[in-house]
Amino acid sequence: MSGPDLTARLVRHIRAHGPMTIAAYMAMALHDPQAGYYARRQPLGAAGDFVTAPEISQIFGEVIGLGCADFWRNIGRPDPVVLAELGPGRGTLMADFLRAAAVVPGFREAARLVLIDASPVLREEQRQLLGAFGPLWVSGFDEVPDGPLLLVANEFLDALPIRQLARGRRQWRELLVAVDASGGLCLSEGPESPAATLLVPPQRRDAPPGTIVEICPAASALAAALAERLTRQPGAALFVDYGYAGNAPGATLAAVDRHRAAGVLDRPGTADLSAHVNFAAFAGAARAGGAAVHGPLTQREFLTALGAETRLEVLLRKARPEQRGLLETGLRRLIDPQEMGTLFKAMAVTSPGLPAPAGFAG
Ligand code: SAH
Repeated sequence: MSGPDLTARLVRHIRAHGPMTIAAYMAMALHDPQAGYYARRQPLGAAGDFVTAPEISQIFGEVIGLGCADFWRNIGRPDPVVLAELGPGRGTLMADFLRAAAVVPGFREAARLVLIDASPVLREEQRQLLGAFGPLWVSGFDEVPDGPLLLVANEFLDALPIRQLARGRRQWRELLVAVDASGGLCLSEGPESPAATLLVPPQRRDAPPGTIVEICPAASALAAALAERLTRQPGAALFVDYGYAGNAPGATLAAVDRHRAAGVLDRPGTADLSAHVNFAAFAGAARAGGAAVHGPLTQREFLTALGAETRLEVLLRKARPEQRGLLETGLRRLIDPQEMGTLFKAMAVTSPGLPAPAGFAG
């Protein structure tokens, strides 16, 4: 089934039930079992819609793997330890992670690999790269087995459904997906209401008319569930994503189709949808649940602190001449401020009282 079919179903749904939140639209466009973006497509890589850090350089997964294995050693080598990844994509990060972490004695033997992914297409790719490690696949964080936890997530939070609120004259209103006069999807403004105002974080409610605020209830719920678990069982979770911690940028929801910007409502199920991650909101929800938060740091600061440059030198010494350029340009793309170095951030959430994870210490 292709995009237009999903558009027709969305139109019928809205005609029957009224305008839907952007979050409900995003959830259907990304995850509808027949026509959703992640249900049907392998989005990653040059032939797909977007390229992620682990697909650009093996150094990304390697230094994160070494850092996590180091953290595991620092907290007393719990065995077994649940090693979980949220949204593993093709499995590249975890494959690089496990290869590098093998230098820490006992780590691979202790790790129970758990992959949390909604996409049947990507689960199949993960099976090819990671099947030898005997992973357990689950659909949500709440299904991750109990025990000491190490969790990583790269470009996962940006795919979680967001809602948009606009400041009106007195109250706030929610931006909704509706049907226009010609029968297509359009954005419309819900009524100004105290109920909509209550959805906006208190410190932002006085913003000038026209201001748009995005909230991500699913990210807040994940932060709360993670914090609840980390107060009971030792562990740490690393989130790397594009986003902001200070000044909020307004509306950031965007669609990408084969590496090009597309209209958010144009082709549901065919284009990827994502929004900038509000790291301050995620940190706030994790802290409110009793967890400790480290960062966010820029991806440049984080990878440099993890020794990415040293890792590059080691790899260059062993590399064939034709590989050298690729290794060098790969790491540059990840840490160059003009590329992914400052837009992308890294943040760790840990059990209270544990040492800071590698990269965040000092
Ligand atoms: N981490 C990978 C892939 C990023 S793409 C990389 O860096 O290359 C986002 C990933 O999250 C995909 O694997 C997608 O299937 C998964 N995903 C998105 N929304 C999800 C959800 N609500 N629940 C579980 N997995 C989800």
